[in-house]
Amino acid sequence: MEKINTNLGNKFKLKAAFEGKKSVLSDPEEACQLKQIHSNIIYEIHSSQDLAQVRGKEGDGLLSYLPNRPLLIKTADCVPILLAHPQGIIGALHAGWRGSSQQILSLALKKIEALSLDLKEVKLWIGPAIAFSCYEVGEEVAKHFPEAVFGPCLRPAKSPGKYYLGLQEANYYLALKAGVPKSNLYLSPHCTFCEPQDYYSYRWAKQNHKEETARNHSWIVFN
Ligand SMILES: [Zn+2]
Repeated sequence: MEKINTNLGNKFKLKAAFEGKKSVLSDPEEACQLKQIHSNIIYEIHSSQDLAQVRGKEGDGLLSYLPNRPLLIKTADCVPILLAHPQGIIGALHAGWRGSSQQILSLALKKIEALSLDLKEVKLWIGPAIAFSCYEVGEEVAKHFPEAVFGPCLRPAKSPGKYYLGLQEANYYLALKAGVPKSNLYLSPHCTFCEPQDYYSYRWAKQNHKEETARNHSWIVFN
């Protein structure tokens, strides 16, 4: 569990957390969440009506201008990304390899930029996910992560045709490239696969023949 409590500019207070098996969000059902489908679809929430309409839709990203309304993303190895702009905008993204390769993060940042807001002021937190050295993929996944776009997020693994893929690193690189300063970027040191006592991990459960459908909750809210 990683908790974030900080001021969001001069006007707002921000609260967020990457939760594992310990949960503190009192009522996750109250939070705005989507039916996640490994896409790069992002919804923008400007009003309570938007919120009601967006809830439960298929997609993987939320940007909201509403205070006191938490956004929630669920993951188990995929990368949860939380972000905020001091003008009172928060975002939550689900970025597995499909969403990352479709640059859901770059799209979210473009939407913020389109509001004439400076990405230098964006704060961005990349949460616990399966780490670089634990996430082996084949050529069919690796080919979607060219270094020119995603930075050095691939390393050859021992078996031929296999690679280690750093999804957190790929997203970190996308954020830097978009103009979010390094000093505003947080990268979680926790690996969901290596820390099954604290986090839900899809790959760990599969490897250990465990039925596991629970997910880590990542949420963000401001007031
Ligand atoms: Zn690991």
